[in-house]
Amino acid sequence: MESSRSIGVKVFAEYYHAAAEAHQEGKPIAYITAFTPVEILRAMGLVCLYPESYAVVCAASGRSTEMIQASGMEAFAQDLCSYSLLSFGAERCDRPPFHGLPPPDLLIATNNQCGTTMLWFRLWAQKKNIPLFIIDYPGAAHDQPALTRYIRRQYEALIEFIQAHTGNPLNPAILGEQVERSKQTCMLWQSVHEVNQARPVRVEVQRLIDALFPIVVARGTRQAYEYYEALLRECSQPVGQDKNHTIRLLWHGYPMWFLPKKFPRCGDTQCQIVLNDYTLWWSLRYPDTADDMEALAVAYSDTYLNRTVPRRVEEVAGLVAAYSIEGVICHANRSCRRALADISPLRQRLHQSSIPSVVIEADMANPQFHSAEQIQLRMESLCDALRVL
Ligand code: SF4
Repeated sequence: MESSRSIGVKVFAEYYHAAAEAHQEGKPIAYITAFTPVEILRAMGLVCLYPESYAVVCAASGRSTEMIQASGMEAFAQDLCSYSLLSFGAERCDRPPFHGLPPPDLLIATNNQCGTTMLWFRLWAQKKNIPLFIIDYPGAAHDQPALTRYIRRQYEALIEFIQAHTGNPLNPAILGEQVERSKQTCMLWQSVHEVNQARPVRVEVQRLIDALFPIVVARGTRQAYEYYEALLRECSQPVGQDKNHTIRLLWHGYPMWFLPKKFPRCGDTQCQIVLNDYTLWWSLRYPDTADDMEALAVAYSDTYLNRTVPRRVEEVAGLVAAYSIEGVICHANRSCRRALADISPLRQRLHQSSIPSVVIEADMANPQFHSAEQIQLRMESLCDALRVL
């Protein structure tokens, strides 16, 4: 049986190869945001590229500072999301990773994660004169039929927009396959995490971060499904006992892509980050329905960052209980204002349950805002507090 590692390498190569090939052959390329209903786009023959994912690759390449400087917008680093800065920087710096992304024919943005992506994509549309379509997702639409219908009407307009610009009609059979595979893949991804509800940890949080790429860029494809099927098989093998009684920590929010291991090292060997809720943001909930458009409208309106703050807080509190978490590290990620909103109410909620937490102020992709000393001190204080409890 093929290993997840081998399938993962193929998914990565295929994604960048398909982009380069599409550019050479003149196939339509769309830049899309992380929670665009990619299933519709693939069913219309578009090659879809994710600038946010590419920004992660840029940050992980160790060249964030240089690329943010190259963006020409460095003066706004305090105000703008560093993914957008890296993305603009990649277009202007020498030798960007993988030679950069090929140029898009269409831009499709959504606001079910933040408002930044819409402004970012609008800037591209204006500068490069590329057609842009924006999908508006009201918060809390997942259980309100009128709002779900509103999103569906936008999907119909999206299909007309793509057909007008490419001539490609929607293939309903491909759409059905994509939606069903996305649903199954998200369920597998959820199950991969759930093996860590048992002690000891079976899949390191670092490995979960490394395993994120297929569900972000290839959700709905056969390869992504097979990747998580293999990963779940590998992670379900029995392991020994937790003799040292590990103190289990949850990292709330974004990892730090520029760090070699994506999370700061926890100096206390008894404490271990066993879950990062960020990786579960991609575990979308596609409802059981034969109506593909309905399934997409519900799943994509109920992304983590599109939920109300009280629902987000309850979601994380539920993870703390399910994964026997003893302490929480909240990453106050300067880049992402929408993500910042839940930190304070979450800490109050955790306090009520006697779960200690600390806040680390940093950035997911800009090392300029990273202080190893500050982080070390706060993590040590959390571990000290947990040891005496
Ligand atoms: S990090 Fe936050 S602000 Fe930046 S694109 Fe993602 S959701 Fe939007």
